[in-house]
Amino acid sequence: MPGGYSCRSLNNGFSVSNTPITVNVPDIGDFRDVDIIEILITPGDTVNIETPLITLETDKATMDVPCPVAGKVIEVLAQVGDQISKGDPVAIVASTNEPTSLSPPPIGATPTKTPPEAAAPESAPPLIKNDGADVDLVVLGSGPGGYTAAFRAADLGLKVALVERYPTLGGVCLNVGCIPSKALLHAARVIEETYEMRPHGIDFGEPAINLAQLREWKDKVVGQLTGGLASLAKKRRVEVITGIGEFASSHTISIRGPAGERTVGFSQAIIAAGSQAISLPGLPEDPRVIDSTGALALDHIPDHLLIIGGGIIGLELATVFRALGSQVSIVEMSSQLIPGTDSDLVKPLAKRLAKQCDSIYLNTRVISAHPQDDGLLVSFAGDNPPTETCYDTVLIAVGRTPNGHNINASAAGIGVDEQGFIAVDAQQRTNVAHIFAIGDIVGQPMLAHKATHQAKVAAEVAAGHKSAFEARVIPSVAYTDPEIAWVGLTETEAKNRNIEYEKGVFPWAASGRALALSRSEGFTKLLFEPVTQRILGAGIVGPNAGDLIAEIGLAIEMDCVAQDISLTVHPHPTLSETTAFAAEAFEGTITDLYLPRKR
Ligand SMILES: Cc1cc2nc3c(=O)[nH]c(=O)nc-3n(C[C@H](O)[C@H](O)[C@H](O)COP(=O)(O)OP(=O)(O)OC[C@H]3O[C@@H](n4cnc5c(N)ncnc54)[C@H](O)[C@@H]3O)c2cc1C
Repeated sequence: MPGGYSCRSLNNGFSVSNTPITVNVPDIGDFRDVDIIEILITPGDTVNIETPLITLETDKATMDVPCPVAGKVIEVLAQVGDQISKGDPVAIVASTNEPTSLSPPPIGATPTKTPPEAAAPESAPPLIKNDGADVDLVVLGSGPGGYTAAFRAADLGLKVALVERYPTLGGVCLNVGCIPSKALLHAARVIEETYEMRPHGIDFGEPAINLAQLREWKDKVVGQLTGGLASLAKKRRVEVITGIGEFASSHTISIRGPAGERTVGFSQAIIAAGSQAISLPGLPEDPRVIDSTGALALDHIPDHLLIIGGGIIGLELATVFRALGSQVSIVEMSSQLIPGTDSDLVKPLAKRLAKQCDSIYLNTRVISAHPQDDGLLVSFAGDNPPTETCYDTVLIAVGRTPNGHNINASAAGIGVDEQGFIAVDAQQRTNVAHIFAIGDIVGQPMLAHKATHQAKVAAEVAAGHKSAFEARVIPSVAYTDPEIAWVGLTETEAKNRNIEYEKGVFPWAASGRALALSRSEGFTKLLFEPVTQRILGAGIVGPNAGDLIAEIGLAIEMDCVAQDISLTVHPHPTLSETTAFAAEAFEGTITDLYLPRKR
């Protein structure tokens, strides 16, 4: 059942009329007409003594009205937005025991610490709400992890401050990551589609790119989302504090911002300070050497662009700039693009990029770049290094490093490893029990959807709920063209760890929908446990692979077997059918392909 944990529990506010009983608002000191901000029960709910029924809020504190008896809720007599005073009815509960008779302190008195819910994990420390601190919870960083944590905690009744060094909320993802890159990747896809239709009788001519307009549109998309966050924070009464936050102690954080320096006392904290792009030592400080943030600013379209790093971010940006007209070269230290990903999944992308890019250098690294009038003269080393070449822009996309060393974590006693990661348990607690950490700063994978899920766990635990981050799998997606997506066990991992598996593969060349899109190079691959036929993992390459992979994530979480997938009726003609067909291919029941009998 949802509900906030309060600084104080109010009790003894009931009148017994045999069974059922009416639960009334208890003595709440001098306060009258207090706002109800949350109803935590619905008719039919089973409640115990102390189960919170409603949450009240004054200008000084929030508090829950707990149930004085155990039983079943028959009727809820109050609603959010009502103003309520001592003696007003809250709910009718069919009691199965005698009410308790604790006397609460009045609101405004020194709050007492509320013990954890009986069912809370033993390791959980007592929940403290506003225990002399300025806020119940401070959240450091407003990326997808930070804002989600702040909003969830506020919804659960905590008084929350959200600290962000930049003037807009949303962190890397919304401002300089997921969202602007996907807006530009959409533009790239539209351009490519116009070319793809040429052999089929439709020629739009060469695209005319108005860079200022394109940039304006991308910025508008970002602005809509970040502006939306600001208004959601306001609605939830989350205080946004702009400035650089650093821990001053285990219960205080100091913030240096445009409004000066300020110290905020907190009962609990969530660190969501994210990560930053890794820079390459040895490369010059030069405006023509940029990172992903510089590239997404889109101030110009380079003629010759060298991308250092053939990982997801590097290849997404290669896709964008290639479509916008740059001649793109990619240099990657490993022997394949998107290192670590199943090589069969990467192959269709590598093939397409090989046709589109100037050069792709594998097993190669950049050793220097010397500024010249007309660009940067870059030298390479490796198996078969190219000669020195001049590029007018060099984009570094070699990964991201966590911000753990930039928040004075030691002042709060928080352990940070050499790289800057902060270790957490399943409840997202750091080694300091009342301080949590989430998102990029706690480790791989550095993905927005991991951050948001961990955020909810941390906020819920901070609010006294039993919650843990127990996701079995986290999907990964390269939003390249074609897209590559995978979830759960990969073949590479299975081979490295000697895990037995069997696979079902459906080539998109046999998909009517893929053919109608002129994109038949993709395939859908499902990995199963040989004996139980339980789904273990999946990889998909082709347009919209990122959307398609979600079904397999659910199948893995639900412990599905091959038949669960193959017998689920998928709409025709869609790319989603390829998932069911891959399961059929594994079972040997497929009719859309001819496969030699397997079983
Ligand atoms: C180009 C690019 C594309 C990406 N595309 C995707 C994608 O498609 N899908 C996906 O899942 N992920 C993507 N990512 C990764 C994704 O952006 C991150 O995983 C995600 O933003 C992490 O969220 P977070 O909340 O942990 O931290 P962040 O988003 O990094 O937010 C941390 C926030 O904390 C603030 N902060 C840090 N230190 C302080 C301090 N001391 N005081 C105050 N504020 C501070 C920062 O300013 C920042 O706003 C992409 C990343 C990049 C760079």
